Amino acid sequence: MGVVVVGSANMDVVTRVPRIPGPGETLLALSFARGGGGKGANQAVAAARAGGAQTVFVGALGRDADGDALREGLADAGVDTGVISVSDAPTGTALISVAEDGENAIVVVGGANADFTELSGEQRERVGQADVLLAQLEIAPEVVLAAAQARSEGATFVLNAAPSAPLSEQMWAEVDVLVVNEHEAADLAESLGAPDRDLDAAVDRLAERVSALVVTLGGKGCLVLQDRRRTQVPAVRVTPVDTTGAGDTFVGVLGARLALGDDLVEAARWGSVAAALAVQRPGAQDGVPHADEVRAAR
Ligand code: ADP
Repeated sequence: MGVVVVGSANMDVVTRVPRIPGPGETLLALSFARGGGGKGANQAVAAARAGGAQTVFVGALGRDADGDALREGLADAGVDTGVISVSDAPTGTALISVAEDGENAIVVVGGANADFTELSGEQRERVGQADVLLAQLEIAPEVVLAAAQARSEGATFVLNAAPSAPLSEQMWAEVDVLVVNEHEAADLAESLGAPDRDLDAAVDRLAERVSALVVTLGGKGCLVLQDRRRTQVPAVRVTPVDTTGAGDTFVGVLGARLALGDDLVEAARWGSVAAALAVQRPGAQDGVPHADEVRAAR
C-alpha cells in the first residue's frame, strides 16, 4: 500500500541573505518567505509527487494557522493526511537562512514534533499496511522505533539518519536501508568507533551494520552499497539555487520508487534526478518537482 512517512513537519521561515552571518553578526535579508518544511513532511511530499505510490504522512501539527497551512500543502501534493496527530503544542518552525551561493544555516523549533511521543492506534495500523516505511531523526527515536516494529514482515524500513544521532542497538536491528549524507555517515561511523572521518572507512563501518546503504554526496551524486556491491550514481550537473530539501527530495523519491518495485540503484537514480531539479528552486516542499518533470529530465 505504498509509502508511510513518519516524521516532522515544520513551517519554514526563510530569509535569503548575501552570506551566512558569523557569530555576533547582523545582516539585512534580501528577501523573506514562508513555506512547508520538516524532513518528514518534505519527504512525504516528494514521495507523493513522484507519482504512483500512495503516500501517508504520520506526524504532529499544532492547532494553529501554520498547522492548517501545512496540512493543506500536504493534501495538495497528494499526501494522505488522515492520521496526523493534532497537538496542544504549536506547529514546529524552522528558521532558515539561505546564502546567495546556495549554502544554508537552519535553527529548528520542535513544537508539536517534540510533543509527538507515541503512535496512536490508527497510525500504527497505517504503518502496518506500508510497503515502505520512511523515517528520519527529527522526532523522538522511540516513535521511529515503534513505527519500525509496527511494520509488516515484508515491508522495507528506510531510515534517513538525519539530523545526526547515534542509533540504539534496537534501531540498528530494524533498519533495512540506511540513507545518510557524507557528514551523517562520518558521525554515525564515529559513534560505532571508527578511528577517523574518512568516507571509505565510514562506509565500511556502516556496511558492517546494514545490508543496504546510500550515502549522498551533494553535487557528487551518491554511493549505493548493497550486499557488498558498490555503485556510484552520478549527480546531474546543475547550478544550485537553494540546496534546502535536496536530501529530502532524494529520500522521498527513493522511497516511492522502492514501493513501486525498483531496485535500490534504480531508485537512487530517480532520487538524484528529482533532487537536481529541487536544488534549482527555492523552498523545501515548494521546490520538490512533479513526476512528469522528473521523467522529462531523465
Ligand atoms: P543533504 O541535503 O541531506 O545534505 P546532499 O547534499 O548529499 O544531501 O544531497 C542529496 C542529493 O541531492 C545528492 O545525492 C544529489 O543527488 C542531489 N544534489 C545535491 N546537491 C546537488 C547539486 N549541487 N547538483 C546536483 N545534484 C545535487
